Amino acid sequence: MPSREEIFKHEQEQHINGRNSSMKTDKPIIYIDLDGVCADYNSYFADQYLEHGREMEDIFLDKEVFNRLSKIDGCVKAVRILNNDYDLYFLSTPIWQAPDSYTDKRLWISKVFGNIATNKLILSHNKGLLKGDYLIDDTKSNGVGDFEGEHLWFGQDYKNWDEVLLFFDKISK
Ligand SMILES: [Mg+2]
Repeated sequence: MPSREEIFKHEQEQHINGRNSSMKTDKPIIYIDLDGVCADYNSYFADQYLEHGREMEDIFLDKEVFNRLSKIDGCVKAVRILNNDYDLYFLSTPIWQAPDSYTDKRLWISKVFGNIATNKLILSHNKGLLKGDYLIDDTKSNGVGDFEGEHLWFGQDYKNWDEVLLFFDKISK
């Protein structure tokens, strides 16, 4: 059994050498929003509010919400295709008032995207801080307007995942 000193020394060496001190890649970086792009939060919210008469606050803070969200058509196939040529990250704004949303988003992407999602979740209330080439997002909220790469406005300029794939197909030629 290693001594306390040996464990401490080992940990210190690991930090001095730096774990993953550079994670640069030649692949362009794409950030993918979750709600409204991969997870159908809007349909769920409207359904609960209009059909089930639930209060907005109640839906907003419901711990089970993320377990129940369905996938937006085409997102799994598109993510698999894009993952070949791009460095993908899921970039989502969690609900501060609902701390479970932080965990639930992590679990949701693993369930839906499998290994592709491992270590690829970034949660931020300011998406404009991220460095990268493309951001696929259905709103301009939470700093999207400050993003220095190209914002692909999902649901507006790009109606669905087929149109997003078409965009990346065109720029690769
Ligand atoms: Mg969104």
